[in-house]
Amino acid sequence: MAAEAAADIERMEFQLTLRRRGISDQAVLRAMDEVPREHFVAADDAESAYADQALPIACGQTISQPYVVAYMTEQLEVGPPHRVLEIGTGSGYQAAILSRIAREVVSIERYRTLADAARNRLKTLGYDNVTVLAGDGFLGAPDRAPFDRVMVTAAAGKIPDRLVEQLAEGGKMVLPLGPRTEAQHIVKLTKKANGELVREKLIAVRFVPLLPGQAREL
Ligand code: SAH
Repeated sequence: MAAEAAADIERMEFQLTLRRRGISDQAVLRAMDEVPREHFVAADDAESAYADQALPIACGQTISQPYVVAYMTEQLEVGPPHRVLEIGTGSGYQAAILSRIAREVVSIERYRTLADAARNRLKTLGYDNVTVLAGDGFLGAPDRAPFDRVMVTAAAGKIPDRLVEQLAEGGKMVLPLGPRTEAQHIVKLTKKANGELVREKLIAVRFVPLLPGQAREL
């Protein structure tokens, strides 16, 4: 009972931290409340699952900080009619959050090991509107395009053209942009009816790099 009460308090504090930091979209807060982050981190890190920090996962990658997950989801302005493309599945946590709000999520990961683990995890947890593909996210998923929303969860030096092409008219893309070692920012793009891309620079962040090609090692 004491352990359960402690877990409840931890989840309440998790929500409070997100609200205090400015997350106000109810659908995003609900999704963050519903998805059990402890299932997406390494077993050794389960105790830190609700701390507002990024944590290491397999293949030298990271599961993003909860605040950044919530912030990017809020900025994506995603809703129930949307089909979403995510690049950088990692643990599958961000895909799970998106799946609670959107109609369908397609997520691409360059490490087969991570893609397979995330696919199994999402299936076990019942997130059945997510498709995880192993491949090069720079190429997107042209056979499933266009997408209403695109989220990239690894930092690119420049906006990947192929992903812009796969964005529907009126669609939005949120991605961390910037060089590997210097300041990266979340950037939000909106594709206008005339094809014009409106660009907004948002908060400073630190992400692992978006690397070209599917990983050769597992
Ligand atoms: N969204 C993840 C966090 C991802 S970390 C989560 O919620 O856990 C970034 C991920 O992007 C890493 O797993 C990395 O392997 C992947 N990645 C990097 N470059 C990629 C590319 N070109 N295509 C697909 N995935 C890529």
